Amino acid sequence: MRLNSFSCETWVEPGAALAEIRSPIDQALVGLVSSAGVDFAAMADHARMVGGPGLRALTFRVRAERLKQLAAYLNDRREGLHRLSLLTGATRRDGMIDIEGGIGTLFSLASKGRRELPDEHFLVDGAVERLSKGGSFAGLHIMTPLNGIAVHINAFNFPVWGMLEKLGPALLAGVPMIIKPATSTAYVAAAAFRLIVESGLLPPGAVQLVVGGVGDLFNHLTGQDLVLFTGSAGTSTKLRNHPVISANAVRFVAERDSLNAAILGSDAGPGSPEFDLFVKEVAREMTVKAGQKCTAIRRVLAPAAWTGAVVEALSARLARTVVGDPRRDEVTMGPVVSLAQQRDCRDRIAVLQGEARVVYGDPARPAVAAGDPEKGAFLSPVLLQCDDPAAATRIHDVEVFGPVSTVLPYRDPAEAIALVRRGEGSLVASLYTYDAGEAARLVSGIAPYHGRLILIDRDCAKESTGHGSPLPVLVHGGPGRAGGGEELGGMRGVHHYLQRTALQGSPGRLAALTKAYVKGAAETAPPAHPFTIPFERLAVGDTIVTPEREVTLADIEHFADFTGDRFYAHMDEAAAAANPFFPGRVAHGYLLLSFAAGLFVDPAPGPVLANYGLDSLRFLKPVTPGETIKVRLTVKQKNPRNAEYGEVRWDVELTNGAGETVATYDLLTMNALAVAA
Ligand code: NAP
Repeated sequence: MRLNSFSCETWVEPGAALAEIRSPIDQALVGLVSSAGVDFAAMADHARMVGGPGLRALTFRVRAERLKQLAAYLNDRREGLHRLSLLTGATRRDGMIDIEGGIGTLFSLASKGRRELPDEHFLVDGAVERLSKGGSFAGLHIMTPLNGIAVHINAFNFPVWGMLEKLGPALLAGVPMIIKPATSTAYVAAAAFRLIVESGLLPPGAVQLVVGGVGDLFNHLTGQDLVLFTGSAGTSTKLRNHPVISANAVRFVAERDSLNAAILGSDAGPGSPEFDLFVKEVAREMTVKAGQKCTAIRRVLAPAAWTGAVVEALSARLARTVVGDPRRDEVTMGPVVSLAQQRDCRDRIAVLQGEARVVYGDPARPAVAAGDPEKGAFLSPVLLQCDDPAAATRIHDVEVFGPVSTVLPYRDPAEAIALVRRGEGSLVASLYTYDAGEAARLVSGIAPYHGRLILIDRDCAKESTGHGSPLPVLVHGGPGRAGGGEELGGMRGVHHYLQRTALQGSPGRLAALTKAYVKGAAETAPPAHPFTIPFERLAVGDTIVTPEREVTLADIEHFADFTGDRFYAHMDEAAAAANPFFPGRVAHGYLLLSFAAGLFVDPAPGPVLANYGLDSLRFLKPVTPGETIKVRLTVKQKNPRNAEYGEVRWDVELTNGAGETVATYDLLTMNALAVAA
């Protein structure tokens, strides 16, 4: 019942001035909260002095492994979280979005991290830039974890997902966290947090928890720290304007309320699959989690001629909603999170009623199928209709964080775009059209105002993840009113926690620092053919140059006959010569690649297990019959994968007899370790 904070590896009992958390189902007391007694300076110090060094001692790849283990640990223990989640008013289905959704996000980020992040303490961002004529001075970018603290302030609606979607990227980056869940559902977040600590998978100081207010924590933040905030625009503005945040240029990433739209295309009339998909999605978004989703559809745009049909179809769907105690099987929508939230929703509906009329639902008296309507924070789904959305203002800037949406008729796509843009920046909008031109027009009109657009039609509906689901591999966030932040997005979310630094110097120095070959750096002669050397004994910079081989007209014709590639540039002298790129017949690029392999491959069984691809292939100069080619093969980078093999990236350059570069690419192979052989 008394919810502890976790500071400096100690569970801290709530101090004085306890606040009560009550279940919105029946006002039962479910938690007592206070962060009085938490020493925020010590907490910040602990994260900085213990958590940061402990996390940074692990490589990016090892942290990704830990994240996967953590996801599995939580997954095995999720039932207890579900029991608590029901007390917040969430149905079992809502709970799955929160709990399984949060754990799934960790799995997805861990798997991306294990594939894409190096077994190193830095990332290289982008390509090497040549900065001098002679090639002795170059530049590149590295990214390293900030040496500070990530303060995570989360909203009440998804206590588990909200915590984990921020924890995943921070852990991958190697930055310790101080996590502050919203008070009204803090008991669910605190239970998930306790599991994270009990897992023993994270080094000391990697995570700490504040249940209650954040006290003077912000006074201890520096330019190495960052704040990731999810919640209302009001709180975000207040925190962003904290003097320490501006004075120390503390990074501040905000995800906040948003007047998300769903747009029915002007081609998608009643009876079309897109019309039905639109109605289904709007009704679902209104009622899942009782509409308490940052991504929920607040503005429902439909061609004016079909507004009546839309309202009728939506009303019929909403009528199937069973409001009540979410612990009962038949209930499909629980209460909002608290009586205060219920009051807030009603107040905001009243504001919208100044510009729109209620066409479905009674804001004051929900029909409650199971549960006590007097004690529970129940609301009916409420659909409003605004007949003059261009003249209205509040429907474009008042978010009712509950099961409430407003239908807005539009005359043509230009007006639909103008109305959507009145939201001044949203997390997401969904488009329902089967017309390519309409889709292109709407996307180009509203993309700058959104972090995500989802195009739902008959071709993708069955497998679509839906309007409301942020995905770990895609960006979550939006401009303007939505806060201007970006989270998730695969590795993009990790980059918030890293400092990008341009490094300039000699190719040799840059190669040594990044452990990757840079053109112009010293090349070394390996003791034997590199294909015979096990992974761990290959040295970055090891280079061989092959003998030359002539490319004859007979080779070209043989290759054409053998593969069926009889493109005129290889087979027809006059047509090839008329092409501005070729002097006459030239060798197939793929023939050159095949000859290159024939030149550099060592054929005997050995440590090279597989060739699994080429990156950045460029054919730079044509090769004509009678010319020679040779290959320079250099070990560019080594990425250990497991105890048996690792990935080798080879820099490959083909040159002609005049020493001109004909083709370049990175070759990727999997090479066995000596210990595994
Ligand atoms: P809120 O009142 O702004 O609270 C958000 C968080 O900020 C809570 O953890 C809250 O803690 C904390 N907070 C409040 N005052 C603070 C202060 N002075 N210093 C430090 N922390 C402070 O928002 P909410 O009512 O919980 O959430 C609903 C809003 O969040 C809606 O507007 C919704 O659109 C938005 N939201 C956005 C997203 C998104 O991803 N964009 C997701 C979910 C929700 P306490 O609970 O202890 O006050």
